[in-house]
Amino acid sequence: MDVTDFYGIEESPADRGSNGSKRLVKNWGAQFSTQKPLGLLNHGVTCYTNAAVQAMIHIPAVQHYLVDVLQGKYKDTINPRSVSQVLAETSARMWGLEKIAHKKGGPKFINPKKLIGRLDDINCMMSEWQQEDSHEYFMSLLSRLQEDSTPKGHKLNESIIYDIFGGSLDQLVTCKNCGHVSKTQQEFYDLSLHLGTSRKNSQTEPIDKEELSAIQQQQSLDEAESKHRFSINKSIRDFFSPELIKTDRSDKSGYVCEKCKKRTNAIKRSTIDRAPETLAVHLKRFRFNGNSSSKVKQGVSYPLILDLSQYTTRHEPVLYQLISVVVHEGRSVSSGHYVSHCRQPDGVWATYDDEYINIIPEKQALRDPSAYYLIYTRLTHKDVKQGSDVVKKATNMKPTPVPSSKAPTPKSSQPPKSLSPTTKKMKSLRAGIITPSVPDPSLVQKSPQAPTSRKQKFKGLKPTNNLGNLGGKQQKRYAKDSSGNASKRFRKY
Ligand SMILES: [Zn+2]
Repeated sequence: MDVTDFYGIEESPADRGSNGSKRLVKNWGAQFSTQKPLGLLNHGVTCYTNAAVQAMIHIPAVQHYLVDVLQGKYKDTINPRSVSQVLAETSARMWGLEKIAHKKGGPKFINPKKLIGRLDDINCMMSEWQQEDSHEYFMSLLSRLQEDSTPKGHKLNESIIYDIFGGSLDQLVTCKNCGHVSKTQQEFYDLSLHLGTSRKNSQTEPIDKEELSAIQQQQSLDEAESKHRFSINKSIRDFFSPELIKTDRSDKSGYVCEKCKKRTNAIKRSTIDRAPETLAVHLKRFRFNGNSSSKVKQGVSYPLILDLSQYTTRHEPVLYQLISVVVHEGRSVSSGHYVSHCRQPDGVWATYDDEYINIIPEKQALRDPSAYYLIYTRLTHKDVKQGSDVVKKATNMKPTPVPSSKAPTPKSSQPPKSLSPTTKKMKSLRAGIITPSVPDPSLVQKSPQAPTSRKQKFKGLKPTNNLGNLGGKQQKRYAKDSSGNASKRFRKY
């Protein structure tokens, strides 16, 4: 995959991504180009929210949406008392978009008191008095934004939040008895990856020589890049590799073929039908066992440019670039500390550690062994038609310069050419590009039904590890299970 075939971050002002969205704004644009957000005060143990909020508002599409919310563009949908409104106000203070500009020498952080006060509406099982799982908070916040932005009677995948984060997987199950292939689709909003040993049965369907040699080549690359670290490239490969669903007649587990009606072994494989514009990659560091939990402490390695082309249904060229890394330091989910490394609009990376902001070299952001979840933005292939309506943001909230963070800005504070550092590396990876196809509108995903009652209304995200048999017992806590039981985590709205 040649990265020069894709627009870089900030390269095309009219970039609305690859999935045909008309309202998505992929780049920071002039409004934010010189802006840097402020830090967030820690209320004791709320670093898990602060790290997630920084990762969230460093996604250009999300922040542009929040500005639109504040300007009343979504006033028919967004309740002024909603969490979305509070996040929009909080982010405007962070970015210095308020009328009262940040004064030079003024505070370098703000107090996210109002947002913390809404924790119950974001995830009612979480406490501001206790360390919680930052990824879970991030996904709960995402769910809340999605629900807030979905008008009554509409589907969640009509929300702009779906445009920003939503993807879908094709799941193919091949019956080992009659060869029938059953295909289903599932929306996803993040990828939850196992670290280390594959969760899958090693038995896989036969693959051809070419594919095998490509896999072996990639494996040796992965090993080289991460001698003592788990490689997320490997975890992703495991995630998308074929899985044997074993049948046990005694406990009636396994797969019942819809064609031959037999309970039989089957091969299950997932491919990406719709690659999301923003990809949240979660690493399963915390293992839960009854009431206790443990942490996988081993370091991880992750690339700046993530190539998912080989996992797509139509073999489209799909590249992502890293924009945030949320890091967990410490021994367990209930202790330790979260910080996030985020790419600022000018391309400079900074570590947001509650109130403190430190400029760091990109290299450092790319090599944090304690990474817990990663935010990638999809790069748009140059074959994708760019909108002629150059993104204009009719704004009367003029951004004002924000005092620089406490660390000195590196000398080369010019926006780096986003392509340059990776071009050479990526060029060698693969040649031959298939023209990306516009998603087929007939393949629209199944969407949760329109809400019926307030209690039932939350039909938000399903965890991506809930892929049939794959998820197992560790149903993630932000999820509402598909059985229709109202999740305890969401009691408001
Ligand atoms: Zn069959």
